[in-house]
Amino acid sequence: MWLLLNGCSIDSSEDSGQRVTSVDTTPNDSMDIPYNAQPKVPKIDNMKLHNSEVAYCLTHHRQSPINLNTPGKKAAHTLTFNYVSSHEVVKNLGHTVELEYDKGSSAVFDDKTYQLIQFHFHTPSEHRIDAERYPMEAHLVHQAADSTFLVISLLFEEKKENTFLKSFINDIPKTAGDSTEKSQEIDLTKFFPSDQRFYTYSGSLTTPPYTEGVRWVIFKQPVSCSKAQLDIFKKTEGFNARKLQPMNLRKLEEF
Ligand SMILES: [Zn+2]
Repeated sequence: MWLLLNGCSIDSSEDSGQRVTSVDTTPNDSMDIPYNAQPKVPKIDNMKLHNSEVAYCLTHHRQSPINLNTPGKKAAHTLTFNYVSSHEVVKNLGHTVELEYDKGSSAVFDDKTYQLIQFHFHTPSEHRIDAERYPMEAHLVHQAADSTFLVISLLFEEKKENTFLKSFINDIPKTAGDSTEKSQEIDLTKFFPSDQRFYTYSGSLTTPPYTEGVRWVIFKQPVSCSKAQLDIFKKTEGFNARKLQPMNLRKLEEF
């Protein structure tokens, strides 16, 4: 499967959170998923491999992340949040910092309800807007009763300290595999940008098994965080951004 992914995707240059001016389309999968979730390369003969590559390309053409080429097509979507605060559970998973969220919070996208499960971080951002990469991206992962996902994405820019991150950042465990649990509450509604207009498209999870049918919502307005805060996430996670995937026949929409 690892080779098969090489066969039909487009890579991008890997930088360290700096602004880039163009999207490199050199095929190179070496920095796709930089942790121990990579599937083993199957030993099959060349013809089988070729056929499998073709099959993979034909069936997996709605992957994430993507470069968001703006403007998107104007579309009338509805998105509402029914979030309540959660007690704090912060996990250092080695490849990401993840916070579990108590049951009872949901988002409604176009009349479909998705329960909030967890949120986690990528350094640098996985999505780019007009080729611009941001130093960090947060993914708020929601799941509907039919098991499909809605992921809300927040992009970060390095500016002033983020008070929401400040509420738990000192509780991120130093050791991979450890978690911190506290009774103190965290409130994700304090995390959102003031301007909640967004881009949206249909994509996939950005970690194995790369499940498609994921509704992505990326807020246009980045949120700010300080360099010191960024450094803590970078030190804990390392580089954990999947490479860009081709847009293919999908349309970017904006609201
Ligand atoms: Zn993610």
